[in-house]
Amino acid sequence: MKIYTGIRSKPHQLIEEDDIQAVVDVLRSKSLTQGPSVDAFEDEISKACGSKYAVVANSATSILHLVCLAVDLGPGDWLWTVPNTFVATSNCALYCGAKVDFVDISADDFNMDVEALRQKLIQADKTGKLPKVIIPIHFGGQPAKMKEIYELGKKYGCLVFEDASHALGAEYKGESIGKCQYSDGVILSFHPVKIITSAEGGAFVTNTKALADKISLLRSHGITRDENQMTSNSEGAWYYQQIALGYNYRMTDLQAALGISQIKKLKQFISKRNKIADFYDEKFQGSPFRLPKRYADSTSAWHLYVIRLELDKIKISRKDVFNQLWERNIPVNVHYIPVHTQPFYKGLGFKEGDFPNSERHYKEALSLPMHCNLEDSELERVVSGLHEILNF
Ligand SMILES: *Cc1c(COP(=O)(O)O)cnc(C)c1O
Repeated sequence: MKIYTGIRSKPHQLIEEDDIQAVVDVLRSKSLTQGPSVDAFEDEISKACGSKYAVVANSATSILHLVCLAVDLGPGDWLWTVPNTFVATSNCALYCGAKVDFVDISADDFNMDVEALRQKLIQADKTGKLPKVIIPIHFGGQPAKMKEIYELGKKYGCLVFEDASHALGAEYKGESIGKCQYSDGVILSFHPVKIITSAEGGAFVTNTKALADKISLLRSHGITRDENQMTSNSEGAWYYQQIALGYNYRMTDLQAALGISQIKKLKQFISKRNKIADFYDEKFQGSPFRLPKRYADSTSAWHLYVIRLELDKIKISRKDVFNQLWERNIPVNVHYIPVHTQPFYKGLGFKEGDFPNSERHYKEALSLPMHCNLEDSELERVVSGLHEILNF
Protein backbone atom coordinates (compact mmCIF):
# COMPACT_ATOMS: atom_id res chain seq x y z
CA MET A 1 0.00 0.00 0.00
CA LYS A 2 1.41 3.36 -1.00
CA ILE A 3 -0.29 5.54 1.60
CA TYR A 4 2.01 6.60 4.45
CA THR A 5 5.17 4.99 3.12
CA GLY A 6 7.54 4.27 5.96
CA ILE A 7 4.88 2.51 8.01
CA ARG A 8 5.05 -1.24 7.74
CA SER A 9 2.14 -3.01 6.15
CA LYS A 10 2.35 -6.78 5.82
CA PRO A 11 1.77 -8.50 2.49
CA HIS A 12 -1.80 -9.68 2.11
CA GLN A 13 -0.90 -12.88 0.32
CA LEU A 14 0.28 -15.90 2.29
CA ILE A 15 3.01 -17.61 0.26
CA GLU A 16 4.66 -20.74 1.67
CA GLU A 17 7.49 -23.04 0.51
CA ASP A 18 5.13 -25.36 -1.40
CA ASP A 19 3.75 -22.38 -3.37
CA ILE A 20 7.30 -21.35 -4.28
CA GLN A 21 8.22 -24.91 -5.25
CA ALA A 22 5.17 -25.18 -7.52
CA VAL A 23 6.28 -22.09 -9.46
CA VAL A 24 9.92 -23.24 -9.60
CA ASP A 25 8.78 -26.60 -11.02
CA VAL A 26 7.10 -24.80 -13.91
CA LEU A 27 10.21 -22.67 -14.49
CA ARG A 28 12.18 -25.89 -14.96
CA SER A 29 9.55 -27.38 -17.27
CA LYS A 30 9.01 -26.98 -21.02
CA SER A 31 5.92 -24.77 -20.84
CA LEU A 32 5.94 -21.37 -19.18
CA THR A 33 2.63 -20.60 -20.85
CA GLN A 34 -0.07 -22.56 -22.74
CA GLY A 35 1.02 -25.67 -20.88
CA PRO A 36 -0.75 -28.19 -18.64
CA SER A 37 -0.96 -26.08 -15.46
CA VAL A 38 -3.65 -23.81 -16.91
CA ASP A 39 -6.06 -26.71 -17.60
CA ALA A 40 -5.25 -28.23 -14.22
CA PHE A 41 -6.00 -24.94 -12.43
CA GLU A 42 -9.31 -24.66 -14.29
CA ASP A 43 -10.23 -28.17 -13.08
CA GLU A 44 -9.39 -27.24 -9.49
CA ILE A 45 -11.49 -24.07 -9.69
CA SER A 46 -14.53 -25.98 -11.04
CA LYS A 47 -14.11 -28.52 -8.26
CA ALA A 48 -13.87 -25.86 -5.53
CA CYS A 49 -16.89 -23.97 -6.90
CA GLY A 50 -19.04 -26.92 -7.92
CA SER A 51 -19.43 -25.49 -11.43
CA LYS A 52 -19.24 -27.41 -14.70
CA TYR A 53 -16.73 -25.11 -16.41
CA ALA A 54 -13.94 -22.70 -15.48
CA VAL A 55 -11.85 -20.49 -17.77
CA VAL A 56 -8.88 -18.54 -16.40
CA ALA A 57 -7.34 -15.32 -17.74
CA ASN A 58 -4.64 -12.86 -16.71
CA SER A 59 -7.01 -10.86 -14.45
CA ALA A 60 -10.61 -10.55 -13.33
CA THR A 61 -10.73 -7.31 -15.30
CA SER A 62 -9.93 -9.29 -18.48
CA ILE A 63 -12.60 -11.84 -17.55
CA LEU A 64 -15.18 -9.06 -17.09
CA HIS A 65 -14.27 -7.72 -20.54
CA LEU A 66 -14.50 -11.19 -22.10
CA VAL A 67 -17.88 -11.85 -20.46
CA CYS A 68 -19.25 -8.64 -22.01
CA LEU A 69 -17.81 -9.60 -25.42
CA ALA A 70 -19.15 -13.14 -25.15
CA VAL A 71 -22.73 -11.92 -24.71
CA ASP A 72 -22.32 -9.32 -27.50
CA LEU A 73 -22.74 -6.36 -25.17
CA GLY A 74 -22.26 -3.32 -27.38
CA PRO A 75 -23.48 0.12 -28.40
CA GLY A 76 -27.11 0.62 -27.39
CA ASP A 77 -26.87 -1.96 -24.57
CA TRP A 78 -26.80 -1.32 -20.83
CA LEU A 79 -24.89 -2.99 -18.01
CA TRP A 80 -26.00 -2.36 -14.42
CA THR A 81 -23.87 -2.85 -11.33
CA VAL A 82 -23.48 -1.17 -7.92
CA PRO A 83 -21.47 2.00 -7.20
CA ASN A 84 -19.91 0.28 -4.17
CA THR A 85 -17.36 -1.72 -6.16
CA PHE A 86 -13.98 -1.51 -7.84
CA VAL A 87 -14.10 0.40 -11.15
CA ALA A 88 -13.38 -2.76 -13.18
CA THR A 89 -16.94 -4.07 -12.64
CA SER A 90 -18.40 -1.19 -14.67
CA ASN A 91 -15.47 -0.31 -16.96
CA CYS A 92 -15.95 -3.60 -18.84
CA ALA A 93 -19.18 -2.33 -20.40
CA LEU A 94 -17.49 0.87 -21.55
CA TYR A 95 -14.70 -1.14 -23.24
CA CYS A 96 -17.44 -2.59 -25.46
CA GLY A 97 -19.13 0.71 -26.27
CA ALA A 98 -22.12 -0.14 -24.04
CA LYS A 99 -23.59 2.12 -21.35
CA VAL A 100 -23.38 1.73 -17.60
CA ASP A 101 -25.91 2.50 -14.91
CA PHE A 102 -25.93 1.71 -11.21
CA VAL A 103 -28.32 0.27 -8.65
CA ASP A 104 -27.80 1.61 -5.15
CA ILE A 105 -26.76 -0.65 -2.27
CA SER A 106 -28.79 -1.69 0.74
CA ALA A 107 -27.72 -0.16 4.06
CA ASP A 108 -27.97 -3.69 5.43
CA ASP A 109 -25.33 -5.73 3.62
CA PHE A 110 -23.84 -2.96 1.38
CA ASN A 111 -24.73 -5.13 -1.63
CA MET A 112 -27.18 -4.47 -4.47
CA ASP A 113 -30.53 -3.45 -3.00
CA VAL A 114 -33.26 -5.77 -4.28
CA GLU A 115 -36.05 -3.17 -3.98
CA ALA A 116 -33.97 -0.52 -5.76
CA LEU A 117 -33.30 -3.05 -8.54
CA ARG A 118 -37.00 -3.91 -8.83
CA GLN A 119 -38.04 -0.24 -9.07
CA LYS A 120 -35.31 0.58 -11.59
CA LEU A 121 -36.28 -2.40 -13.77
CA ILE A 122 -39.95 -1.32 -13.75
CA GLN A 123 -38.91 2.17 -14.90
CA ALA A 124 -36.43 0.86 -17.49
CA ASP A 125 -39.09 -1.47 -18.88
CA LYS A 126 -41.35 1.55 -19.51
CA THR A 127 -38.64 3.54 -21.28
CA GLY A 128 -37.20 0.61 -23.24
CA LYS A 129 -33.85 0.83 -21.47
CA LEU A 130 -33.68 -2.57 -19.79
CA PRO A 131 -30.12 -3.75 -19.14
CA LYS A 132 -28.72 -6.70 -21.09
CA VAL A 133 -26.43 -7.57 -18.17
CA ILE A 134 -26.66 -7.10 -14.39
CA ILE A 135 -23.52 -7.67 -12.30
CA PRO A 136 -23.98 -7.58 -8.52
CA ILE A 137 -20.85 -8.01 -6.42
CA HIS A 138 -20.44 -9.84 -3.11
CA PHE A 139 -19.05 -6.95 -1.12
CA GLY A 140 -16.30 -7.95 1.29
CA GLY A 141 -17.09 -11.61 0.59
CA GLN A 142 -20.70 -11.41 1.84
CA PRO A 143 -23.01 -12.91 -0.82
CA ALA A 144 -25.60 -10.56 -2.31
CA LYS A 145 -29.27 -11.64 -2.33
CA MET A 146 -28.74 -13.62 -5.53
CA LYS A 147 -32.02 -15.53 -5.55
CA GLU A 148 -34.09 -12.35 -5.65
CA ILE A 149 -31.68 -10.60 -8.03
CA TYR A 150 -31.61 -13.55 -10.46
CA GLU A 151 -35.39 -13.93 -10.43
CA LEU A 152 -35.81 -10.23 -11.22
CA GLY A 153 -33.16 -10.48 -13.95
CA LYS A 154 -34.93 -13.45 -15.57
CA LYS A 155 -38.31 -11.71 -15.36
CA TYR A 156 -36.98 -8.84 -17.47
CA GLY A 157 -34.79 -10.95 -19.79
CA CYS A 158 -31.42 -9.85 -18.37
CA LEU A 159 -28.29 -11.93 -17.96
CA VAL A 160 -26.96 -11.96 -14.39
CA PHE A 161 -23.27 -12.45 -13.59
CA GLU A 162 -21.77 -12.34 -10.10
CA ASP A 163 -18.58 -10.39 -9.56
CA ALA A 164 -17.28 -12.71 -6.85
CA SER A 165 -13.78 -11.21 -6.77
CA HIS A 166 -14.16 -11.04 -2.95
CA ALA A 167 -16.10 -14.21 -2.42
CA LEU A 168 -14.26 -17.40 -3.39
CA GLY A 169 -15.02 -19.74 -0.48
CA ALA A 170 -18.26 -17.99 0.55
CA GLU A 171 -21.56 -19.89 0.69
CA TYR A 172 -25.11 -18.93 -0.23
CA LYS A 173 -28.17 -21.02 0.53
CA GLY A 174 -26.05 -24.07 1.25
CA GLU A 175 -23.93 -23.93 -1.92
CA SER A 176 -20.50 -22.52 -2.77
CA ILE A 177 -20.35 -19.18 -4.52
CA GLY A 178 -19.30 -20.18 -8.01
CA LYS A 179 -21.88 -22.93 -8.35
CA CYS A 180 -23.96 -20.46 -10.41
CA GLN A 181 -27.13 -21.53 -8.64
CA TYR A 182 -28.64 -18.08 -9.18
CA SER A 183 -26.62 -16.60 -12.04
CA ASP A 184 -25.38 -17.20 -15.57
CA GLY A 185 -21.76 -17.13 -14.46
CA VAL A 186 -19.33 -15.97 -11.81
CA ILE A 187 -16.16 -13.86 -12.01
CA LEU A 188 -13.24 -14.54 -9.64
CA SER A 189 -10.04 -12.56 -9.00
CA PHE A 190 -6.70 -13.93 -7.85
CA HIS A 191 -5.01 -10.59 -7.24
CA PRO A 192 -2.76 -10.86 -4.14
CA VAL A 193 -5.22 -9.01 -1.88
CA LYS A 194 -7.99 -11.51 -2.69
CA ILE A 195 -8.79 -14.87 -1.05
CA ILE A 196 -6.22 -16.90 -3.03
CA THR A 197 -3.62 -15.55 -5.44
CA SER A 198 -1.94 -16.35 -8.75
CA ALA A 199 -0.14 -12.95 -8.61
CA GLU A 200 -2.40 -11.56 -11.32
CA GLY A 201 -5.27 -13.69 -12.53
CA GLY A 202 -8.98 -14.22 -12.81
CA ALA A 203 -11.52 -16.87 -13.73
CA PHE A 204 -14.98 -17.26 -15.13
CA VAL A 205 -17.05 -20.18 -13.88
CA THR A 206 -20.34 -21.24 -15.42
CA ASN A 207 -22.58 -24.19 -16.17
CA THR A 208 -23.20 -22.93 -19.73
CA LYS A 209 -20.79 -24.61 -22.13
CA ALA A 210 -21.30 -22.10 -24.96
CA LEU A 211 -20.27 -19.22 -22.68
CA ALA A 212 -17.17 -21.02 -21.40
CA ASP A 213 -16.13 -21.92 -24.97
CA LYS A 214 -16.63 -18.36 -26.23
CA ILE A 215 -14.62 -16.85 -23.39
CA SER A 216 -11.87 -19.40 -23.86
CA LEU A 217 -11.74 -18.55 -27.59
CA LEU A 218 -11.66 -14.77 -27.03
CA ARG A 219 -8.95 -15.04 -24.38
CA SER A 220 -6.49 -16.14 -27.06
CA HIS A 221 -7.04 -13.99 -30.18
CA GLY A 222 -10.24 -15.73 -31.27
CA ILE A 223 -8.04 -18.52 -32.65
CA THR A 224 -9.17 -22.14 -32.65
CA ARG A 225 -7.43 -25.42 -33.39
CA ASP A 226 -10.69 -27.36 -32.97
CA GLU A 227 -11.87 -28.55 -36.39
CA ASN A 228 -15.48 -28.56 -35.19
CA GLN A 229 -15.30 -24.80 -34.77
CA MET A 230 -13.65 -24.11 -38.14
CA THR A 231 -15.45 -22.79 -41.20
CA SER A 232 -13.73 -25.37 -43.44
CA ASN A 233 -11.70 -28.57 -43.10
CA SER A 234 -8.33 -28.38 -41.41
CA GLU A 235 -5.42 -28.08 -43.85
CA GLY A 236 -3.05 -30.08 -41.62
CA ALA A 237 -1.67 -30.44 -38.13
CA TRP A 238 -0.25 -26.89 -38.22
CA TYR A 239 -3.57 -25.35 -39.14
CA TYR A 240 -5.58 -22.90 -37.05
CA GLN A 241 -8.30 -20.41 -37.82
CA GLN A 242 -9.17 -17.04 -36.36
CA ILE A 243 -12.96 -17.07 -36.17
CA ALA A 244 -13.56 -14.05 -33.88
CA LEU A 245 -11.70 -10.94 -32.75
CA GLY A 246 -10.06 -11.86 -29.46
CA TYR A 247 -7.19 -10.68 -27.28
CA ASN A 248 -4.16 -12.09 -25.53
CA TYR A 249 -5.59 -12.32 -22.02
CA ARG A 250 -3.91 -15.66 -21.23
CA MET A 251 -2.74 -16.73 -17.79
CA THR A 252 0.81 -18.15 -17.70
CA ASP A 253 1.62 -21.61 -16.32
CA LEU A 254 3.68 -19.95 -13.59
CA GLN A 255 0.56 -18.17 -12.38
CA ALA A 256 -1.62 -21.25 -12.78
CA ALA A 257 0.81 -23.38 -10.77
CA LEU A 258 0.73 -20.83 -7.95
CA GLY A 259 -3.07 -20.80 -8.19
CA ILE A 260 -3.26 -24.61 -7.91
CA SER A 261 -1.02 -24.58 -4.85
CA GLN A 262 -3.09 -21.79 -3.28
CA ILE A 263 -6.56 -23.19 -3.97
CA LYS A 264 -5.60 -26.32 -2.01
CA LYS A 265 -5.47 -24.02 1.02
CA LEU A 266 -8.82 -22.36 0.42
CA LYS A 267 -10.53 -23.95 3.44
CA GLN A 268 -7.60 -23.07 5.68
CA PHE A 269 -7.59 -19.44 4.45
CA ILE A 270 -11.35 -19.06 4.96
CA SER A 271 -11.09 -20.56 8.42
CA LYS A 272 -8.36 -18.08 9.41
CA ARG A 273 -10.42 -15.16 8.06
CA ASN A 274 -13.44 -16.42 10.00
CA LYS A 275 -11.39 -16.53 13.20
CA ILE A 276 -10.36 -12.90 12.69
CA ALA A 277 -13.96 -11.85 12.01
CA ASP A 278 -15.18 -13.70 15.12
CA PHE A 279 -12.45 -12.05 17.18
CA TYR A 280 -13.39 -8.54 15.97
CA ASP A 281 -17.11 -9.26 16.48
CA GLU A 282 -16.51 -10.31 20.06
CA LYS A 283 -14.14 -7.46 20.96
CA PHE A 284 -16.33 -4.78 19.41
CA GLN A 285 -19.60 -5.56 21.17
CA GLY A 286 -20.92 -2.21 22.46
CA SER A 287 -18.67 -0.14 20.20
CA PRO A 288 -19.81 3.14 18.61
CA PHE A 289 -19.73 1.61 15.14
CA ARG A 290 -21.73 -0.96 13.20
CA LEU A 291 -20.22 -4.39 12.68
CA PRO A 292 -20.73 -6.41 9.48
CA LYS A 293 -24.11 -8.11 9.61
CA ARG A 294 -24.33 -11.90 9.53
CA TYR A 295 -27.05 -13.83 7.74
CA ALA A 296 -28.68 -17.20 8.41
CA ASP A 297 -28.62 -18.31 4.76
CA SER A 298 -25.05 -17.32 3.79
CA THR A 299 -21.45 -17.18 5.02
CA SER A 300 -18.90 -14.55 4.04
CA ALA A 301 -15.45 -15.33 2.66
CA TRP A 302 -14.30 -12.32 4.76
CA HIS A 303 -12.20 -10.68 2.08
CA LEU A 304 -12.90 -7.49 4.05
CA TYR A 305 -14.08 -6.68 7.55
CA VAL A 306 -15.80 -3.32 7.11
CA ILE A 307 -17.13 -1.34 10.06
CA ARG A 308 -19.43 1.64 9.66
CA LEU A 309 -18.72 4.56 12.00
CA GLU A 310 -21.83 6.22 13.40
CA LEU A 311 -20.53 9.72 12.84
CA ASP A 312 -23.33 11.43 14.79
CA LYS A 313 -22.33 9.42 17.90
CA ILE A 314 -18.60 10.15 17.85
CA LYS A 315 -16.78 13.47 18.04
CA ILE A 316 -14.14 12.60 15.49
CA SER A 317 -14.19 12.38 11.69
CA ARG A 318 -13.57 9.20 9.71
CA LYS A 319 -10.43 10.77 8.30
CA ASP A 320 -9.05 11.38 11.82
CA VAL A 321 -9.90 7.82 12.89
CA PHE A 322 -8.15 6.54 9.76
CA ASN A 323 -5.06 8.74 10.27
CA GLN A 324 -4.76 7.97 13.99
CA LEU A 325 -4.91 4.23 13.28
CA TRP A 326 -2.14 4.53 10.69
CA GLU A 327 -0.08 6.57 13.21
CA ARG A 328 -0.35 3.52 15.46
CA ASN A 329 0.90 1.37 12.56
CA ILE A 330 -2.55 -0.13 12.00
CA PRO A 331 -3.08 -0.26 8.23
CA VAL A 332 -6.79 0.36 7.67
CA ASN A 333 -8.37 1.16 4.32
CA VAL A 334 -11.62 2.43 2.79
CA HIS A 335 -13.85 0.45 0.39
CA TYR A 336 -15.19 1.84 -1.91
CA ILE A 337 -15.17 5.34 -3.34
CA PRO A 338 -18.50 5.11 -5.22
CA VAL A 339 -17.69 4.52 -8.90
CA HIS A 340 -20.21 7.12 -10.12
CA THR A 341 -18.35 9.86 -8.19
CA GLN A 342 -15.05 9.19 -9.99
CA PRO A 343 -14.15 12.11 -12.29
CA PHE A 344 -14.27 9.84 -15.33
CA TYR A 345 -17.82 8.73 -14.49
CA LYS A 346 -18.90 12.29 -13.68
CA GLY A 347 -17.79 13.03 -17.24
CA LEU A 348 -20.42 10.50 -18.36
CA GLY A 349 -23.14 12.48 -16.55
CA PHE A 350 -23.25 10.93 -13.06
CA LYS A 351 -23.24 13.25 -10.08
CA GLU A 352 -22.96 13.39 -6.31
CA GLY A 353 -26.34 12.47 -4.77
CA ASP A 354 -27.30 9.92 -7.46
CA PHE A 355 -26.84 6.90 -5.14
CA PRO A 356 -27.16 8.10 -1.52
CA ASN A 357 -26.68 4.74 0.24
CA SER A 358 -23.37 4.12 -1.55
CA GLU A 359 -22.23 7.68 -0.81
CA ARG A 360 -23.15 7.38 2.86
CA HIS A 361 -21.39 4.02 3.05
CA TYR A 362 -18.24 5.60 1.64
CA LYS A 363 -18.32 8.39 4.26
CA GLU A 364 -18.66 5.98 7.19
CA ALA A 365 -16.80 2.83 6.15
CA LEU A 366 -13.47 1.64 7.48
CA SER A 367 -11.87 -1.68 6.48
CA LEU A 368 -9.94 -3.21 9.37
CA PRO A 369 -6.84 -5.37 8.76
CA MET A 370 -8.02 -8.76 7.43
CA HIS A 371 -5.65 -11.28 5.86
CA CYS A 372 -3.95 -14.57 6.64
CA ASN A 373 -0.63 -13.09 7.79
CA LEU A 374 -2.12 -11.30 10.80
CA GLU A 375 -0.87 -12.36 14.21
CA ASP A 376 -2.78 -12.25 17.49
CA SER A 377 -0.65 -9.36 18.78
CA GLU A 378 -1.54 -7.28 15.72
CA LEU A 379 -5.23 -8.02 16.14
CA GLU A 380 -4.99 -6.95 19.79
CA ARG A 381 -3.39 -3.71 18.59
CA VAL A 382 -6.29 -3.03 16.22
CA VAL A 383 -8.68 -3.46 19.14
CA SER A 384 -6.76 -1.29 21.59
CA GLY A 385 -6.17 1.36 18.91
CA LEU A 386 -9.88 1.69 18.19
CA HIS A 387 -10.69 1.67 21.94
CA GLU A 388 -8.25 4.54 22.53
CA ILE A 389 -9.31 6.64 19.56
CA LEU A 390 -13.06 6.21 20.04
CA ASN A 391 -13.11 6.01 23.90
CA PHE A 392 -15.25 2.96 24.48
C1 LIG B 1 -10.20 -6.94 -7.45
C2 LIG B 1 -11.51 -6.71 -8.10
C3 LIG B 1 -11.65 -6.69 -9.49
C4 LIG B 1 -10.49 -6.74 -10.44
O1 LIG B 1 -9.68 -7.84 -10.25
P1 LIG B 1 -8.28 -7.96 -11.03
O2 LIG B 1 -8.00 -9.43 -10.96
O3 LIG B 1 -7.31 -7.14 -10.25
O4 LIG B 1 -8.47 -7.47 -12.41
C5 LIG B 1 -12.92 -6.59 -10.01
N1 LIG B 1 -14.00 -6.46 -9.21
C6 LIG B 1 -13.91 -6.43 -7.88
C7 LIG B 1 -15.14 -6.32 -7.04
C8 LIG B 1 -12.65 -6.53 -7.28
O5 LIG B 1 -12.53 -6.48 -5.95
